[in-house]
Amino acid sequence: MADVHSGTSGFVYEEIKYMTLNRPDLSVIVPVYNEENVIKSFTDHLLNVLNSINMTCNMSWEIVFVDDGSLDNTFEIIKTLAVSSEKISGVRFSRNFGKEAAMLAGLEHAEGRAVLMIDGDGQHPPEYIKQLVVPWQAGKADIVMAVKSERKSDSVWSRANAHLFNWFMEWATGMNMTGASDFQLLDRRVVQSILQMKERNRFFRGLSNWAGFRVVRVPFNVDDRMGGESKWSTLQLIRLAVTGITSFSARPLNLVMGLGACGLGVGFILLIQALWSWFIGIDVPGWTSLTIVILFFGSANLVAVGLVGIYLAKIFEEVKARPIYLVQETTRTLDSVKLDEDVE
Ligand code: UDP
Ligand code: MG
Repeated sequence: MADVHSGTSGFVYEEIKYMTLNRPDLSVIVPVYNEENVIKSFTDHLLNVLNSINMTCNMSWEIVFVDDGSLDNTFEIIKTLAVSSEKISGVRFSRNFGKEAAMLAGLEHAEGRAVLMIDGDGQHPPEYIKQLVVPWQAGKADIVMAVKSERKSDSVWSRANAHLFNWFMEWATGMNMTGASDFQLLDRRVVQSILQMKERNRFFRGLSNWAGFRVVRVPFNVDDRMGGESKWSTLQLIRLAVTGITSFSARPLNLVMGLGACGLGVGFILLIQALWSWFIGIDVPGWTSLTIVILFFGSANLVAVGLVGIYLAKIFEEVKARPIYLVQETTRTLDSVKLDEDVE
């Protein structure tokens, strides 16, 4: 237990503990960031579903909230929830470390024989949990993924975007992640494997895809948020995509690449203009070809250097080996202190 607060290193549960101690069957992990408006109603909904699953499938459960450095009252609400039920606990980060870090912390703090990841904003409807649990409980799956059905309400434009994105990801990573979401159930075996992956920069969807094991996919419809706003800016989404491919991004180097890309755009416009000047005859000898060569290849160089830089930054980050997140407090602090004392 002493290791609970210390990032990824050395955090390995012994199989034997699962036999002897009273672990829940299912741990539900909820990463939350500034969700004070929705967390209460989401939790009520989740509790209803979990209690009915407990009745029909005879499964014990726990809920682990990971507060990713919220600036509002989210953690206060989590504390109240934790007081109301010993099956609910919460971990609070010292600042916002991002959803990937929150999910990892959840995996490290969860004790269940299976772990379920679910968003705290209601977009992953808790009603589907039963469908995710059943194949696992029947021993037919180690990973049960909820796969987003295409939203009919989405515009043709955004669907085309999604297709392009998926095609690009598959081309770049060799993994088909169409409809992939973080709404997944993982068997303890898979959780242990993921916890053994030491990389700092994580892309949960990719990791669980990479891990293999027996996967079952369950389609689900993404609900609208229960309130608040999506915490992902377009820039964050682009960055997540880059992480998915290179498992890293570094701002200055991205900037270099961005500049290169802009240069390339300007170069292209100038190229057309230069060709046009040449075509209508107002041509300074040699200028056309020179412009094309300098601008085109200059910017292409910048893009290439930026790209190499991204991989270099990734190595730099891994070598520094900083913890992926820092914990400010947990609702279980008192308990674990007691436990540690007992051990000594
Ligand atoms: N989230 C988080 N850290 C962040 C951003 C989001 O823990 O830095 C949580 C958020 O509270 C929610 C889930 O991750 O429970 C999904 O976030 P969001 O709804 O903003 O993303 P989207 O649904 O647009 O992918
Ligand atoms: Mg959401």
